Amino acid sequence: MPEFTMTIGGAAVETTAVFDVINPATGSPHAAAPDCSRAQLDAAFDAAATAYPAWRSDEAARRTALKAAADVLMAAAGGDLAETLTAEQGKPLQDARFEVMGAAIWLQYFADLEIPREVIQDDDRAKVEVVRRPLGVVAAITPWNFPLVLAAWKIAPALLAGNTLVLKPSPYTPLATLKVGELLRDVLPPGVLNVVSGGDDLGAWMTSHPVPRKISFTGSIETGKKVAAAAAPDLKRTTLELGGNDPAIVLDDADPAVVANKVFDQAFANNGQVCSAIKRVYVPERLYDDVVEALAAKARSVKVGNGLEEGVQYGPINNRPQYERVQELVADALANGGRAAAGGAPIDGPGYFFAPTILTDVAEGVRIVDEEQFGPALPVLRYTDVEDAVARANATDFGLSGSVWGTDADRAAEVAERLECGTAWVNTHLALAPHQPFGGFKWSGIGVENGTWGLVGFTETQVVHRAKR
Ligand code: NAD
Repeated sequence: MPEFTMTIGGAAVETTAVFDVINPATGSPHAAAPDCSRAQLDAAFDAAATAYPAWRSDEAARRTALKAAADVLMAAAGGDLAETLTAEQGKPLQDARFEVMGAAIWLQYFADLEIPREVIQDDDRAKVEVVRRPLGVVAAITPWNFPLVLAAWKIAPALLAGNTLVLKPSPYTPLATLKVGELLRDVLPPGVLNVVSGGDDLGAWMTSHPVPRKISFTGSIETGKKVAAAAAPDLKRTTLELGGNDPAIVLDDADPAVVANKVFDQAFANNGQVCSAIKRVYVPERLYDDVVEALAAKARSVKVGNGLEEGVQYGPINNRPQYERVQELVADALANGGRAAAGGAPIDGPGYFFAPTILTDVAEGVRIVDEEQFGPALPVLRYTDVEDAVARANATDFGLSGSVWGTDADRAAEVAERLECGTAWVNTHLALAPHQPFGGFKWSGIGVENGTWGLVGFTETQVVHRAKR
């Protein structure tokens, strides 16, 4: 049996074809992943459909199974699973361990979450209740930046609601997700959670397959639009968690050193490869040089390297196309009047390492400001009038999240509420939690994940109307 197998109907499944998974810290193949055939995908959807009637009918059993799954993942956080995640994704081992724990925390949270059921009328004429019913089989597709935690954002609410699932990770990071399928084989009833792996074409087969009633997708805007189109012919439900170009607006009463320190952390988390990382910072003219210098000093001081090495804070960029894209966007900024206050170039070596980069003297119209860079390079923009900064922050098709930073938190909150985005943070960014709905305005997505709102997205609304006369 190969090291990594798919999980279909509770069993380990091998494939005739495999594909290489590259370790981004070395640029070399790390392991081979199964390449799911169309017949195997059919088998996965069949297994999910077969498991559905029993799974949907026993809520108590679902909660028990989700708790057991959470315990298994929590116990796995210190072991090989995190190392597998680091080897395929690049993130430091400690961050990989936190990600495994995060997945466990999400499962635990949903295991206890109430499924809403509301009486909206109860009088002498009728009792009317609004209840939530599962959809059936769900197809879940995830990206390469947080393979495990983003899978848990789908697995936990989908299964609690009574659906069954076929999950496909990114071809850049399939291994840890396959391991999760393996770890949960004896914890969940066969067919409830099926894990398949393959290329982008496998994702397209899933979205046009007749069995799933919902597509829960996290990834790029470009692919999200294809998913929406593929779901349309048979009106599959979709939740689309897509890209972001999050602005952070620093107000003129902010302490530059304090804010720069926090903004750096929220921009470079996971090496900038977070949908809702800070991707452009607006700084008032008066504070500009101080904020830039503090950001640049921190960028120069952090340790970049192989995530398996002790003390490394930032790993490589996950894959070659993304590595080349970050180089291209930084080079474009430098060719268009930008200056690198720190970094600005790849780091020599076999892996996809790029120096943490602070770019100054760039503005809208330059690609790294207008597009999602999704990597360790942060443009810092000047403004003189806060109204202008808000208008510029909102002048985009993106709308995932944003933040406003200042000593007067009420004033900062007032500005934050004018940001056109799904989450508006004040004096923080990237503060995500299982009870907090997360989703994007505009092209950053449709629907939300997490909390009761995310759970409801894995259900149909049913009205139960009992006449009394
Ligand atoms: P991607 O869109 O290239 O791939 C995402 C997933 O979709 C992968 O599993 C891929 O194999 C699959 N896929 C590719 N083509 C498909 C198709 N035609 N039909 C169905 N599935 C298909 O995205 P990526 O490069 O893996 O991830 C980075 C992007 O994800 C960034 O834009 C980032 O902002 C976004 N993201 C968003 C969130 C969020 O919650 N909003 C979270 C993390 C990442």
